[in-house]
Amino acid sequence: MDRILLNDFPSQWAQVGSAALAAVDRVGRSGWLILGSEVAAFEEALAERWGLPQCVGCACGLDALEISLRCLGLKPGEKVLTTPLSAFATTLAIMRAGGVPVFVDVDVSGQLDLSLARKALEAEKDIRFAIPVHLYGHALDLPLLESLRQEFELCIVEDCAQAIGARSHGRGVGSVGQAAATSFYPTKNLGCMGDGGAILSASAELAERARSLRDYGQSEKYVHTQIGSNSRLDEIQAAILRDALLPRLGEYTRRRREIAERYRAEIQHPALSIPPVPEGSESVWHLFPLLVSGDPQRFQDHLGGAGIASARHYPTLIPDQRALRDYAEPRSLGALTNAQRFARGEVSLPIHPHLTDPQVEKVIETCNDWPE
Ligand SMILES: *Cc1c(COP(=O)(O)O)cnc(C)c1O
Repeated sequence: MDRILLNDFPSQWAQVGSAALAAVDRVGRSGWLILGSEVAAFEEALAERWGLPQCVGCACGLDALEISLRCLGLKPGEKVLTTPLSAFATTLAIMRAGGVPVFVDVDVSGQLDLSLARKALEAEKDIRFAIPVHLYGHALDLPLLESLRQEFELCIVEDCAQAIGARSHGRGVGSVGQAAATSFYPTKNLGCMGDGGAILSASAELAERARSLRDYGQSEKYVHTQIGSNSRLDEIQAAILRDALLPRLGEYTRRRREIAERYRAEIQHPALSIPPVPEGSESVWHLFPLLVSGDPQRFQDHLGGAGIASARHYPTLIPDQRALRDYAEPRSLGALTNAQRFARGEVSLPIHPHLTDPQVEKVIETCNDWPE
């Protein structure tokens, strides 16, 4: 059997290559490469699928988060409540927008603990912003998040980079925050062939600001009304996403769910535990996290020896990153006990949609055979 990869781009290309090449050919022939009909058509298709009226393509997920915060009026020095357990980009967006991250611990599923978040918001009345993350493809409890938004008049940007299509108690992720940001980085559930991202929102006003901010802060050609940046989704990426990848997202998500069900039913080892799925979450399984008691490196070596790739999400908490050390302000409210447990022991198994049944079985057997 071939090596079992974390992401299988060659298999994906075998499926989507001809549609992707046709899309590139169409864009090439059109002679229009930046902010044209392809980006507009993809934005419309994604908004429709997401069930939100507005979609604004950006250069990447990091920018989608940062631009969303700027659209919501974040001022330099303002606090933004967030999770210590995420891609570094979540916090980076806060800092690039001039905000000050305030970290609250995660719960046993690895998601921002919303009851601790409530306590933090009660204790620190000046927190007006939050970036919760739907981590691993799970959905945070949206009714609870909505009650926080209402009670504390919060401006929320939902980080949906790992959770496109996930639902909580029947509601889609991204429907509670004033804005949702997602990423088309190639490993994501809807990945393009390079970098890309998008902002989704119910607000036409917010979308208009975002369209200006992604394009030098222009309101019309050569009229600059805001300090913006250059963060545009390419026509080529938009065309590939709309023609080749978005149409397969449903099928890919179903396959991820099927694999997750098998892992959840069949991985049984006293030193490996599967973190619970948040209540009410219909997850899209961007990742499949395990918590290893004992040495996660030895478990990864065991998988590697059987030709199975694995990864850690995430071995260092964001507040412990070197880049934050020079900033006095970012801080945690309360202990980060659960987050540290994930940082110490989390190992992610392959769960991409191109895994075959024999590969899934091999992953399960190899986990169950770990001699520790
Ligand atoms: C990937 C990711 C991002 C950043 O997206 P990029 O497109 O790589 O900038 C942000 N947040 C989370 C949770 C992510 O997984």
